Amino acid sequence: MDPRWTTLLQEARAAHGASPELRDFCAFPDALRDQPGEPRPDPLATTLQDAPGDTSARWQGFRDAACAVGPIARWRDTYRHTAIGADLHRHFGCYELLGQDAPYGTEEMRGFLVYQRPGYHYPAHHHPAEEIYLVVTGEAEFHLDGHAPRRLGPGGTVFHPSGLAHALTTHDSPVLAWVLWRGEMDRRPVFSDPALQGEAQA
Ligand code: FE
Repeated sequence: MDPRWTTLLQEARAAHGASPELRDFCAFPDALRDQPGEPRPDPLATTLQDAPGDTSARWQGFRDAACAVGPIARWRDTYRHTAIGADLHRHFGCYELLGQDAPYGTEEMRGFLVYQRPGYHYPAHHHPAEEIYLVVTGEAEFHLDGHAPRRLGPGGTVFHPSGLAHALTTHDSPVLAWVLWRGEMDRRPVFSDPALQGEAQA
């Protein structure tokens, strides 16, 4: 396994230990299969290098490790073939660290690094899996159906219940986040607005 992955795994485990919300969400899996795969490059890997540092320094190691993996990550094509796919993928990128077809294999949960550039609204979508976001660096506004929007910075977490629509807006800053899934993890997300259509490819 490339040492950049090993470092990122260590940082993810450390972040898990440091966040009561993540620990409540799920255990960090012990038994992980090494599943090295071919990278799927994405221009976002370069943009990711501009992710802001964490002024509290608490999440800096996680941020640095996530950026270091950018060039060798298997960037996901979710929503690429939907009506807004091209625009979305210019502003948003995601790769998996833990999960079924991630470099570290497990069936217990999935863990993704996501990066969104400034000034973008990721439209409302939903999925059966329960989800928790931990902001690593930067800042974003989190929208959850029936709740007031919340602006979160480094260390902030938000829980998305199964099937409840949620959206993500960045303003002046990009956001780098660590996202965990549990529960029904095989079903893909879908946009809430039928006009956007096209089922996403998880
Ligand atoms: Fe989601």
